[in-house]
Amino acid sequence: MTRIVYLNGEYVHESEAKVSIFDRGFLMADGVYEVTSVIGGKLIDFNGHAIRLARSMNELMMQPAITKDALLEVHRELIALNDLQEGMIYLQITRGSPNDRDFVFPDPEKVKPTVVLFTQSNPNMVYNPKAKVGMKVISISDERWGRRDIKTVQLLYPSMGKMMAKAEGADDAWMVEDGMVTEGTSNNAYIIKGDVIITRKLSNDILHGITRAAVLRFAGEAKMTVEERNFTIAEAQDADEAFITSASTFVMPVVSVDGVDVGTGIPGPIAARLRAIYLEESLKTAI
Ligand code: PMP
Repeated sequence: MTRIVYLNGEYVHESEAKVSIFDRGFLMADGVYEVTSVIGGKLIDFNGHAIRLARSMNELMMQPAITKDALLEVHRELIALNDLQEGMIYLQITRGSPNDRDFVFPDPEKVKPTVVLFTQSNPNMVYNPKAKVGMKVISISDERWGRRDIKTVQLLYPSMGKMMAKAEGADDAWMVEDGMVTEGTSNNAYIIKGDVIITRKLSNDILHGITRAAVLRFAGEAKMTVEERNFTIAEAQDADEAFITSASTFVMPVVSVDGVDVGTGIPGPIAARLRAIYLEESLKTAI
């Protein structure tokens, strides 16, 4: 099936959605994005993603492009038009096309942002076989820019990180800066020592994951102990469990770090419990 996608106010066949070669997203990675998961045809944590989108745009001095209500409507329409049951909705907003190349931002009164949304079907998101066996990660140096809290489309380094992991037979990479893990290439990183869940605290050094916020909230409600602090790769290798979170993987166990087994080398009970709680609770508020 080919997709119906959304481009600047219109629903069109994917082959008909065309963006200018002068678009600043294309020329300068001057754009932001969001990925919202869909389970049973419903959006998980739409509100959180809409709020983070507005924040990312504000940080980059981009004018609001679409209201939250209109955005929800587009998400729902795309789910309906593409009969999406399980998968994701990708959204990207760039600073638009000034019909030339210039470092200076165009006048927002003259150049309107480019708004693109499309669906990605993935029937194995909830019953992801990886959740049973766990992921292997390698560590790499974090070479990204300093505003990782803004969800921009500059994904070249994360993409290179995934290729480095693949070359070593691993599933993903955890990035390290000043000896401390920042996050995964497209997810937040956690370790568990005893019954304490440890994850880096929020700052400009990492993306403020929407799944992270929900998981930490649910962990608190379940009376689990959370410590927001930096940790090293050596600590991760010595931990009892490790996992990642993201909108598309939810909670996913990590069983090896740089070739060293974490705990017993199989997915642990706390990560499994968090995954179950996350899925159960977030489905209750899906819209
Ligand atoms: N960190 C990075 C670098 C990411 O790219 C992502 C996912 N886009 C996350 C964390 C997880 O964020 P979320 O839970 O909002 O998907």
